[in-house]
Amino acid sequence: MEGVSVRNLADRFGTPLYVYSEAAILSQIRRFEAAFSGLPHLFCYALKANPSGRLCRLISSRGLGADIVSGGEMERALRSGFPASRIIFSGVGKTESELKWAVRRRLLFINVESEEELRRLEGVAKRLNKTADISVRVNPDIDPRTHRHITTGLAVNKFGVPPAAARDLFRRAAKRKHLRPVAIQCHLGSQIREVKPYLSALRQLLSLARSLAADGIPLRWLDIGGGMGVAEGEKGELNPETLAAAIASEMGANPLRLILEPGRALVAGSGALLMKVLYRKASAGDGLLRGPRDSALGPGSASGAWGAPGTRLRRGRGGPRFVIVDAGMNDFARPSLYDAQHPIVPAVLPRGGPKFRADVVGPICETGDFVAKDRLLPWPAPGDVWALLMAGAYGFSMSSQYNSRPRAAEVLVSGQEAVLIRRRETLKDLFALER
Ligand SMILES: *Cc1c(COP(=O)(O)O)cnc(C)c1O
Repeated sequence: MEGVSVRNLADRFGTPLYVYSEAAILSQIRRFEAAFSGLPHLFCYALKANPSGRLCRLISSRGLGADIVSGGEMERALRSGFPASRIIFSGVGKTESELKWAVRRRLLFINVESEEELRRLEGVAKRLNKTADISVRVNPDIDPRTHRHITTGLAVNKFGVPPAAARDLFRRAAKRKHLRPVAIQCHLGSQIREVKPYLSALRQLLSLARSLAADGIPLRWLDIGGGMGVAEGEKGELNPETLAAAIASEMGANPLRLILEPGRALVAGSGALLMKVLYRKASAGDGLLRGPRDSALGPGSASGAWGAPGTRLRRGRGGPRFVIVDAGMNDFARPSLYDAQHPIVPAVLPRGGPKFRADVVGPICETGDFVAKDRLLPWPAPGDVWALLMAGAYGFSMSSQYNSRPRAAEVLVSGQEAVLIRRRETLKDLFALER
């Protein structure tokens, strides 16, 4: 990673370990900025993808804004240098105190997601004698063709309000002294690989914005959310250049400023989760583990890229093979939650040698605890370091102490340097809050 050996990082900081490349994050920011340079725009980084203070400071220092979904994220965003004037607040369930903090701090806008929330927000603003800048989140009922658990813009999802109801909320808000509609927003889901859903949503938002302008409610911002897909398994990424070109031609000469809320796309590729091989095991037990040339292991020399997912090889005799590693679903939940297929590679790639097919599983007492399934891998030895790639987003941020496992440490790599940005939790940390 950059100028640093990840094998050495694993030795120095222990495993499981999250490592991030600063250069990779910066280059992804530059790429998005360049792609959208022809359009007046603001990127609001969705903090939930990776809220590490060190990474957030890096991102805020490049002039980006932040998209937050809780009071905790508001605190993180402000502490890591995002100015309130570049922070937007999303989410269906903001509490009264979260709304109060948001109004006091004068965020860029608060995304209203229901009629009742609008009423509560008005009450809060009135009591503080302030005016809250708002947006209404539209649910455009568009299928972004992604995993059902990460779809948010379908009518059956809990997010936003239908376009007709949104228009109604805007009109009502415009009449209120303590509310000021400034933006219209939607967010379709995550891991979207096609431009089409964005364009369908954009058309709806533009037409709504036009009819609002005709009603005497001119808006300043048009926010089409995040969700730009990154490579996973055999699926490729959504190309920001293609997205930008399509949006530009749809926007035409519209004076609205564009907001995008990328989370994953900015940080996923920068991160890897390092883990160590603990044990090898064949489900049929017995003496199958003498080595890859053991005939009982079946075809040990399949072709394909190291760690390639989705390969359909015949299993050899002896049933499934497992590589048991020291990272589990508490450290990285995406495979268990979303069937995510992240590439996994040995930190030190062997020169040639046989490959075999195995499931890479963690130590958690759940059958759903796996890191990678059905992968072509080199025959490992206990102690080998492996790296799960594309792990910079929704990795550490979704990790937990399940099975009373202290959370992993995080390291930021920059050139030849590696800095510990969050220490590994200790056994003491497990008990710190108990009374
Ligand atoms: C999660 C989320 C995002 C970011 O999604 P990514 O897939 O990480 O780009 C953006 N906006 C809202 C409202 C979100 O909830």
